[in-house]
Amino acid sequence: MTSVPMLDLSLQHAQVADEIRSGFDRVIATSSYILGPAVREFEAAFADYCGVGHAIGVGTGTDAIELALRGAGIGPGDDVVVPANTFVATAEAVLRAGATVVFADCDEDFLLDPHDLRTRMTPRTRAVIAVHLYGQTAAVDEIRAVVGPSVALIEDAAQAQGARYHGRRAGSLGDVAGTSFYPGKNLGAYGDGGAVMTSSHAIAERVKMLRNHGGVRKYEHWEVGTNSRLDSLQAVVLSAKLTRLDDWNAERRHLAERYDGLLAGLSGVTCPRTVPGNEHVYHQYVVRVPDRDRILAELTAEGIGVGIHYPLPVPLLPAFAGPVPATGAFPVAERLANEILSLPIYPGLTHAQQDYVAERLALAIGRSTAVVSGTRAAG
Ligand SMILES: *Cc1c(COP(=O)(O)O)cnc(C)c1O
Repeated sequence: MTSVPMLDLSLQHAQVADEIRSGFDRVIATSSYILGPAVREFEAAFADYCGVGHAIGVGTGTDAIELALRGAGIGPGDDVVVPANTFVATAEAVLRAGATVVFADCDEDFLLDPHDLRTRMTPRTRAVIAVHLYGQTAAVDEIRAVVGPSVALIEDAAQAQGARYHGRRAGSLGDVAGTSFYPGKNLGAYGDGGAVMTSSHAIAERVKMLRNHGGVRKYEHWEVGTNSRLDSLQAVVLSAKLTRLDDWNAERRHLAERYDGLLAGLSGVTCPRTVPGNEHVYHQYVVRVPDRDRILAELTAEGIGVGIHYPLPVPLLPAFAGPVPATGAFPVAERLANEILSLPIYPGLTHAQQDYVAERLALAIGRSTAVVSGTRAAG
């Protein structure tokens, strides 16, 4: 074995290629490129899949979160709590909606910590974004208990399509949710895309207007919206892939269990935990290792596609921190950022590839243990 990529989308494409080609032909034959039947069909199927009344296709996952916030009436003067450890887009969407970001720390399972959330609430807190990071849902019941009924609970379900929380799907757990169909997500398009999910008729109607210049009919503009619509061609891809999503997620869970077994007993490695009540969909399989940067460099040099999601908590990024980042305010997120390592996981990854990843990781860890004990012996 010479290399294992972090992600290989060609394996998914092979399963849906014929369906996508004939679907593209149908769209092209009717020239129905914007908000046509292909988009409506996908929206209905995805709403049904998530167990919500409405799914509204939009241009990107970032837009989906912004429009979810605006649809829920969040804007200037409002504080929105966001976990410190997420992809930057979650926080970006809050600022794009005109509201203020307040960060909170995560727990050891990488999910928003409801206890820390309590300490970050202000009199202006109007919403909290529960990010279902790496493919398992945040503790939405505990979060709801902390924020109370009048604060909007918004899900960032970009990494958790198909995940379940006590039997209910991600996207149906709060007041409104946003998800992303960026190609590398569990349900990925062939370009950018996203959706807003909600069972509130009022929020759905508002988001449908906002994504389409503030109106649903041509040249009727009820408020200032934007242009953020899911393309018909992307809807064709997503409809074809949606019918395979549960199988692909089951394959990811199988691969994760295999990693758990292969890495068990490897000293210093902590495998990810599935929180009781959750069905994980392993958008990422994230282990914690000592001496992470050296191990990352060694595995990369050996052709193994490992990554860090994410190298810095969002409040420490230059865009959010200002010139002098204040470290120490998010101790768990800051510590985890230095330990995490994402291993390759995707439908089609072979057992042989996994065995190779586990073997090279074990050797890299062994070298770091040897260095440490060597130092001790010398000292
Ligand atoms: C991918 C992602 C987004 C943003 O989605 P885009 O489609 O890239 O705009 C937001 N939040 C999380 C957690 C993500 O992983």
